[in-house]
Amino acid sequence: MPISLAEKFGANNYHPLPLVVSRAEGACVWDTEGRRYIDMLSAYSALNHGHRHPRILAAMRDQIDRVTLTSRAFHNDQLGPFLERLSRVSGFNRGLPMNSGAEAVETGIKAVRKWGEKVKGVAPGTGEIIVAANNFHGRTITIISFSTEQQYRDGFGPFTPGFVVVPYGDLDALAAAITPRTVGVLLEPIQGEGGVVVPPPGYLAGVRALCTAERVIFWLDEIQTGLGRTGRLWAWQHEDARPDCISVGKALGGGVYPVSAFCADDALMQVFAPGDHGSTFGGNPLAAAVGSAALDVLVEEDLAGRAERLGVYLQQLIREIGSPKVAEVRGRGLLIGVELHEDAGPARPYCERLMTRGVLCKDTHGQVIRFAPPLVISREQVDQAIVAVAKELA
Ligand SMILES: *Cc1c(COP(=O)(O)O)cnc(C)c1O
Repeated sequence: MPISLAEKFGANNYHPLPLVVSRAEGACVWDTEGRRYIDMLSAYSALNHGHRHPRILAAMRDQIDRVTLTSRAFHNDQLGPFLERLSRVSGFNRGLPMNSGAEAVETGIKAVRKWGEKVKGVAPGTGEIIVAANNFHGRTITIISFSTEQQYRDGFGPFTPGFVVVPYGDLDALAAAITPRTVGVLLEPIQGEGGVVVPPPGYLAGVRALCTAERVIFWLDEIQTGLGRTGRLWAWQHEDARPDCISVGKALGGGVYPVSAFCADDALMQVFAPGDHGSTFGGNPLAAAVGSAALDVLVEEDLAGRAERLGVYLQQLIREIGSPKVAEVRGRGLLIGVELHEDAGPARPYCERLMTRGVLCKDTHGQVIRFAPPLVISREQVDQAIVAVAKELA
């Protein structure tokens, strides 16, 4: 019934697995029949804290009883403390709050372009941002304008100009693409939607050095990789490749409310003056209270440390299955991609059958099964999930 209603009254832009979730807690969800599943997708990293984390729910309930929305026309008592926490955790001295990840990316595009014109001195309307092939940064028209996934663009033109695509992980190609018009380089530290693609060692540090030498903004999209997912607070910390700015989203909302932000230091963020940019809901007191709780839980429960330890453990268990169907196991922390051999067929049917075995995950890029459970998952739950995975891949 819920499925047929959604199919009848909704747009057809998703192809969900055929289960109907009606309840969730921690790393588990239950369907309308009361069957339990281990969530190994975590809403693409929006559920790093797990479902319905008690401290985040308490902060939300508390805030709902006071004030939920003011717009930025007035101050609210939650936004300042949230931005201070975000600054402490991100290491950037300013944050611009938005709602969705795509909006945080759009905000970054505006910041980088304006910096290019007003600070670097690139001629108005000519700044270029270099991006990587196989990227995913969201679904707005401007963002899909630089997607290399044909389906994401098909029929949606005309597109936004000003982007140059280079192969991911190739420092020489990036160096060759930089011109006097280049204002920024936008990359994912690990390409999540692209199939959990980890760049070669030294790549991000190399991009950092190149951007400094060429006076170009180095921007990392940490929306999926950030907030503990890869075993560090930020995925750039694996290489000490501190960028000039980051986009953050997904888990910033603690799994309960959309919260995103673009974070940068003064030199970049101060290109914005009152009226240049905004969002009706961005930075609202409910979002700020939830975001603050999400950041506190992340740090105090050392979710990054959990991701590191459990990630090593889960990767090892997957390798020990020794499945002939598996071509490669890769990833960092609890962002793990299992690439199937061509002759094992596409990943989707595996995910459908894993669902019937009580494990929820999602195929990406045809041949890759992504395992990205909530960072609060227990070792026992990992063990339970792996039993199902082993049966499926045997
Ligand atoms: C999910 C994601 C986005 C887009 O976030 P939305 O909240 O869906 O708009 C952008 N960048 C990356 C790397 C993502 O994983």
